[in-house]
Amino acid sequence: MIYKTIHRLKLDPSQKQRNVDSDDQIIEDVEKDVAIWARNQQQEIDQLKTLENYRRDFLGNVSHELKTPIFNIHGYVHTLLDGGLQDDAINIKYLDRTAKNVERLITIVDDLEAISKLESGNLALDITKFEIKDLVKEVFETHELSAQRKHIQIQLKEGASQSYQVKADREYIRQVLDNLVLNSIKYGRSGGFTKVGFYDMDKYILVEVADNGLGIGQEHLKHVFDRFYRVDKSRSRDVGGSGLGLSIVKHIIEAHSQTINVRSSPDLGSTFGFTVAKV
Ligand code: ADP
Repeated sequence: MIYKTIHRLKLDPSQKQRNVDSDDQIIEDVEKDVAIWARNQQQEIDQLKTLENYRRDFLGNVSHELKTPIFNIHGYVHTLLDGGLQDDAINIKYLDRTAKNVERLITIVDDLEAISKLESGNLALDITKFEIKDLVKEVFETHELSAQRKHIQIQLKEGASQSYQVKADREYIRQVLDNLVLNSIKYGRSGGFTKVGFYDMDKYILVEVADNGLGIGQEHLKHVFDRFYRVDKSRSRDVGGSGLGLSIVKHIIEAHSQTINVRSSPDLGSTFGFTVAKV
């Protein structure tokens, strides 16, 4: 920038007449420009540093998540090989646990794949018009058995009798509902309920998935959409969670240029609400 200014001045003979004051002015201007340039550069460096930390944390989290099931499988398989296979007291039990850990690995890898697709921004949405109430009913059917096992009632909220036509990618919205309904069961309490309600908000429909389960403490609420964040790590692992579900949900909603939020109180329950564009 400084060189360019000097070059310009050399080219322009009229500038030869300039006095000391205008020289000072030029230097002041250049100084200002350089300061702005330095500030922008610093911002860019800070941004790159944040991204680098983010990438390092992510790698660390991924390897940590994968390690637990891999070590478990390693332990079970070697115990079986070292004679456990002939021991009827443990052989089936250890094979069963091995299978569970393999399933955990599959869940983690599937979720990682989904996250990477969503974050690369190459998400091609297949927007169609559909009745969101029907989709919710389909999702209920998928989870009926797990809900029954935990004695949790899954139902539409009273008064949800009218039709709610929306436009969105049906399969991705199914994934969102799937995750929210499944979480409400996983973190629900025996004898409890999950209720899905719809609210007409002019340009969009607000869909709320409410449960009266364990709830989430205020200090955790702003983190639940972060990758790998779990309020209670051991409980989440017990119920087969990867800690990626809600971050996938948030990505999908944001890809639709819509919003998602959560209200919750420990011991009382949680309500996750997201919006979908109305037809
Ligand atoms: P996970 O695979 O662990 O379920 P999620 O990203 O789906 O991961 O959820 C993140 C964390 O948020 C969970 O580990 C759980 O602690 C908490 N959470 C999610 N949904 C609920 C809910 N309906 N009730 C209570 N806690 C919840």
